[in-house]
Amino acid sequence: MQTLESISADRINALFAEVESFTDPDFDGWTRTVFSSPYQEERHWMLRQFKDSGLQNVHVDAAGNIVGVLPGRNPFADPIVLGSHTDTVERGGRFDGVVGVLGALEVVQRFRESGRLLERPLMVIDFFGEEANPFGLTCLGSRSLVGHLAPQDLERINPEGKRLGDTLQAFGMDPSGILGMSTGRPAKWHAYLELHIEQSDSLEKARRDIGVVTAVAGIKRLLARYLGQYDHAGGARMRARKDALLAAASSALVLHEFACGNPGYAVATTTHIDSLQSAQNVVPGKAELRAEVRSTDSAWFTSVDRELTQRVSARAHEFGCDVDLEWFLDNEIVQTNSTLQQNIVDASQSFGLSWMAVPSGATHDSVHISRIAPMGMIFVPSVGGRSHCPEEMTPQRDILNGIRVLEESVRLADKGPLPTL
Ligand SMILES: [Zn+2]
Repeated sequence: MQTLESISADRINALFAEVESFTDPDFDGWTRTVFSSPYQEERHWMLRQFKDSGLQNVHVDAAGNIVGVLPGRNPFADPIVLGSHTDTVERGGRFDGVVGVLGALEVVQRFRESGRLLERPLMVIDFFGEEANPFGLTCLGSRSLVGHLAPQDLERINPEGKRLGDTLQAFGMDPSGILGMSTGRPAKWHAYLELHIEQSDSLEKARRDIGVVTAVAGIKRLLARYLGQYDHAGGARMRARKDALLAAASSALVLHEFACGNPGYAVATTTHIDSLQSAQNVVPGKAELRAEVRSTDSAWFTSVDRELTQRVSARAHEFGCDVDLEWFLDNEIVQTNSTLQQNIVDASQSFGLSWMAVPSGATHDSVHISRIAPMGMIFVPSVGGRSHCPEEMTPQRDILNGIRVLEESVRLADKGPLPTL
């Protein structure tokens, strides 16, 4: 006899297999980048899945998000909203984002089949274009939905010289509609919940089933410009050099060591070092370094740019170089809602699942949605902590655990008092 869990497992397996058929053959893994034809085709398919799962009023909103609603007993109540994304990075994996959308559709099926109506409407959203794109703007759909897409964003140019606005239009969207959505009255939601893979290894290492996300990391990005002295690579004595590339390379270690010194969650990644020259017989007189830091520790995050500016400058001076550091705030730290955290804990415990509090180092649509709704996130383990790569893996058992916890968390949010924003 089939159990509810085996029915869910069969349904989820079938949907995963279908989603995976919409991938770009030009890349390894399961690639479905925003604006690509596999993504376009997948969105048509997904629209049908929304309808087939029993959601009503299924539509694509002006920001490209696929939206559907399972009515509750009270049609006037603010909805509980579940969402994630189905676009990927290049050479992406099978689970990032997809678990949250397919998991939400499965929760809808389970509520319908249980015959027990929720009080509130349950809305599901597959957000448009969450991953980084060549225009340098993530979370296009959720950003627009909360009113954080500005007219100048549509003027962004990709490396091929195309405008974001024109690219949206070529993808079949109306750029003015997206901006209109961005300037309209923001939606009022009771709660937003997102199921996602952890993309790190804390759950696997601690052998826990469920991660209760406490906060999503803030991000600051760094552009450092080094000025040393150009010299002949054969003639210049080692001690007399002012090697700008060496100063930049050494700064990468300063950043690394500074993040390692934080006992909580803090990371620093140097992504580019460039000597801005091609000659192999010249001591580099100039260099550039690009890096980013992330943390959920607000004291560390607030002072990290000041601290690192001092340390990186001191290290550059040891190499006889000057350095100019420019910091850009990408995201502030976003805390998840404490009532929703507790709901996720209670839901996990009701099924005998082990859980732990975890930070999210990755940004999600939830960061933007937290501006308009109390927000909570449920993580399930990533094997080896791997993500944004073809090796990304979350066992089916963990996905089903996540779906059960998501379903029960919705039930608790439906019954419980309004979480405070
Ligand atoms: Zn994701």
